[in-house]
Amino acid sequence: MTSLPVLMYHRVGTPPAGSKLADLWVSPSKLRAQLDYVKAGGWSPMLFSELRKALTGGAHLPRKPLLVTFDDGYANNYESGFPILKELGVKAGIFLVHETLGRHNAWHDPSGEPWIPMMNLAQAREMQESGLVEFGSHTMRHPRLTKVSAEEARWEIAESKRRLEADLGREVRAFAYPYGAGARREDLRRMVEEAGYSFDFGTRPGASRLPWVFASEAFRRIFVPGGAPLWRFKLSLALAPWRR
Ligand SMILES: [Zn+2]
Repeated sequence: MTSLPVLMYHRVGTPPAGSKLADLWVSPSKLRAQLDYVKAGGWSPMLFSELRKALTGGAHLPRKPLLVTFDDGYANNYESGFPILKELGVKAGIFLVHETLGRHNAWHDPSGEPWIPMMNLAQAREMQESGLVEFGSHTMRHPRLTKVSAEEARWEIAESKRRLEADLGREVRAFAYPYGAGARREDLRRMVEEAGYSFDFGTRPGASRLPWVFASEAFRRIFVPGGAPLWRFKLSLALAPWRR
């Protein structure tokens, strides 16, 4: 059985004072150690486009495929994460919230979670040109798709794809549901497929089986809490295929 572990990261660095979401921050040294372990363990981090080719029969899957993903598109992904990807030669996918590009995480209430800068388009393009990073959509504004109207959800899903493709000059094939909300709703998943995405990603823990087809389920992901020691990271990766 081949399964696909998908690592889910958010922010690279040290949490600011007052952050209630400290577990969403991974320090550069922990990220480096985790990705080093991935490489040493023989996993092959893939780009979305490579996975697509492998699933449609145009290329072979590596023996131990894996995806490294970052949600939201924080500037610290570029400033502190990208240097590590380059240093180790690790490929990754980043899910962008289109309206926040070059701005801040406006979907958080700043009284509870400080605003921090999001990457801008020039930084995204530079990462894309390195050949190590591809981008997916994480909607226009990061709503909980299960709480908005169908019309609004469709716009969040389809418009973000159109805009990102225009801005990046590449097809955008991957979609991640904000908060994982909608990843188990058939109507929302159908909208994602109809918008032309090849893959969708939720937050349900585990690793999805390959070969994968859209009709099965949104890809599961492995959340790595920022404070977790390396042994726990290793354990999550080892156990992911067995979670049901
Ligand atoms: Zn998000």
